[in-house]
Amino acid sequence: MSTAVDGQKKRRTQKALKEELIRNALYVVATPLGNLGDITLRAIHILKTVDAIACEDTRATARLTEAHGIRTRLFALHQHNERDAAGQVIGLLRAGKAVALLSDAGTPGISDPGSFTVRAVREAGLTVIPLPGACAATVALSAAGMPGPFRFIGFLPEKSKARATALEQLHGAHETLVFYEAPHRILSMVEALHQAFGAKREVVIARELTKLFETIHHCLLGEAQAWLEADANRQRGEFVVLLGAPSASQRMPEESGERVLGLLLAHLPVKIAISLTQQIVGANAPSRNALYDLALTLKTEAQAD
Ligand code: SAM
Repeated sequence: MSTAVDGQKKRRTQKALKEELIRNALYVVATPLGNLGDITLRAIHILKTVDAIACEDTRATARLTEAHGIRTRLFALHQHNERDAAGQVIGLLRAGKAVALLSDAGTPGISDPGSFTVRAVREAGLTVIPLPGACAATVALSAAGMPGPFRFIGFLPEKSKARATALEQLHGAHETLVFYEAPHRILSMVEALHQAFGAKREVVIARELTKLFETIHHCLLGEAQAWLEADANRQRGEFVVLLGAPSASQRMPEESGERVLGLLLAHLPVKIAISLTQQIVGANAPSRNALYDLALTLKTEAQAD
């Protein structure tokens, strides 16, 4: 039996389905991560209605458009041609057309091309309209049961030294950190996280989200490498890695590290103060480089006082 609320909802949906296209506008449309059903009714309607779809890979997007009966013209906009393609988009919008911007999967501009185009369109005084939908980061977070706040990092640098430096800079972070990773680097990335943050941190490895082999595995960093190695299939596919925020007891040594370093610096040279701080605070002390940065900050602050 349909109620008044159902009727209202239906009318609202019908209104959304008949959404009138805004000319001179760029629609930024999120698309599925794997399951072709993960697209909104509004997105399908807009994709059918716009004059053209700018997408990373026309063949990949054709699979989506064919599945949903969308026959709109596709053209390529990817990291190697984004400047030129953005110009093409602006030309179309100025000519009174409406264009949709898609990436291969998920939300454009999130570790994907799109942000340059969006900025160029906005700076040209034209309208940008986002259509929400799938994004690997939020899909993983929604099933992780980890509390906010969250910090989106995306892909770490590929080279191990640059990656270690990037992780070093995240050492004091108190949020849940969200990483993207490719299958051929997942093992070394998890090892690097272990080295940087210790064995006790909670981690969620979310692989192949929305697809046949979807796996969402919770463990401690010290167990993650063995879990990945236990079955070669666990290193296949696409990955989101969530690193839990440090617990209160994990944070304490960091904070006391700062206090100890501050006290020692007042009486000792930097090198000795750092070395003693590491010995006093123990296994969870900030790394040598982090302590060095901290020492410089503390010394600058002391000089300014
Ligand atoms: N724009 C996309 C989004 O909104 O999430 C991200 C594109 S980025 C080029 C691709 C990366 O996203 C993959 O390497 C992986 O880290 C993550 N990713 C994409 N699809 C995924 C999936 N189905 N499961 C897990 N991670 C995924």
